[in-house]
Amino acid sequence: MTPSDSCQEIREAVRSLCAQFPDEYHRKVDLARGYPEEFVQALTAAGWMAALIPQQYGGSGLSMAEASVIMEEINRSGGNSGACHGQMYVMNAIVRSGSEAQKQRYLPQIASGALRIQSMGVTEPSTGSDTTRLKTTAEKKDGRWVINGQKVWISRIQHSDMMILLARTTPLAEVKRRSEGLSCFLIDLKSAIGQGLTVRPILNMVNHETNELFFDKLEIPEESLLGPEGGGFKTLLDGLNAERTLIAAECIGDGYWFIDRARKYANERVVFNRPIGQNQGVQFPIAEAFIELEAANLMRWQACAKIDAHENAGAAANMAKYLAAKASWEAANVCLQTHGGFGFACEYDVERKFRETRLYQVAPISTNMIFSYVAEHVLGLPRSF
Ligand SMILES: Cc1cc2nc3c(=O)[nH]c(=O)nc-3n(C[C@H](O)[C@H](O)[C@H](O)COP(=O)(O)OP(=O)(O)OC[C@H]3O[C@@H](n4cnc5c(N)ncnc54)[C@H](O)[C@@H]3O)c2cc1C
Repeated sequence: MTPSDSCQEIREAVRSLCAQFPDEYHRKVDLARGYPEEFVQALTAAGWMAALIPQQYGGSGLSMAEASVIMEEINRSGGNSGACHGQMYVMNAIVRSGSEAQKQRYLPQIASGALRIQSMGVTEPSTGSDTTRLKTTAEKKDGRWVINGQKVWISRIQHSDMMILLARTTPLAEVKRRSEGLSCFLIDLKSAIGQGLTVRPILNMVNHETNELFFDKLEIPEESLLGPEGGGFKTLLDGLNAERTLIAAECIGDGYWFIDRARKYANERVVFNRPIGQNQGVQFPIAEAFIELEAANLMRWQACAKIDAHENAGAAANMAKYLAAKASWEAANVCLQTHGGFGFACEYDVERKFRETRLYQVAPISTNMIFSYVAEHVLGLPRSF
């Protein structure tokens, strides 16, 4: 039995929920640069967003393989998991590193959807991919943490009640390794905005609300620390394999969507008195994109299996994300080319999905950073930076 067989029931249930939100719905939200509130509400009410929360905290405690099917189906239906994937995996840091009090306080509310935690603040304007040199600081003062600094590209602040922030608590000069001295914090956005936190939206190519955040002496309670002080990089990393794997599944969903649309159009569109798909110049690229997608999907299942077996999944999760993002982008290109001029028309949805899937070669980790991880940690090549 393949993992996809054991997930069939979940696949069918999510597929039928997604079918209530057709292309027109997602297109309208994208054109309005809106938020698919009804769609996210429906997924939350059905319990799908709480897939990875353990049962004792009100979630369904599903496996990574099962959770990945939820994300895949959202994208395969024409939607974009980017609107809600944070709700599924940002809380992973609480599950893995939170105190019992934090788990009791937050997880049941996240599971029910009463509390949205969709944002994670890591990237900074002056340090970018060089995460361990980030400059935002958190200092302990009179039993509170005081935060100063800046973040960029932080998604979904407008649709989150809380965010997880990575900040430096011990100066870089005082730690042995750059990854030390960073800490994670849970920020209550509603009480922070206007009280030391300023949010400035960044309009971008995809409807993925992103923001610049400015922290100016933001004070937060001492118990906002998530995981050990100085151990924030690890707290964050622990959740990242899940993030990479779920995003790989989203890309796989996108890829199948593109292949389906390309196949359909190539069969229907008649030029020179024959379906365009009869030309090898049209059908071969679709076949090639499909083969590469199927191969990427195998690595996605491998990453899921490693996470579910509690094995080290770093390499598999990164490779799955790399292969799936590449395969979905190639499928996107082929789909657009197959549609000719109509690929550019919003009403075909190809251009929207094309923009959406392109993101995953840059965020949440760019392709070069994956190459660097594999070169150094899998192949034992010298560290390059
Ligand atoms: C739509 C969107 C949503 C996002 N959401 C979030 C979010 O919610 N939270 C968050 O923290 N961040 C978020 N990000 C930020 C995202 O994670 C970063 O954009 C990404 O990690 C790359 O960082 P950067 O943009 O600073 O690029 P840079 O680090 O400036 O890199 C630019 C390019 O140079 C390459 N490069 C840099 N250094 C090297 C090197 N040493 N060797 C080889 N190549 C190198 C990179 O691979 C990249 O291609 C989001 C970004 C986007 C676009």
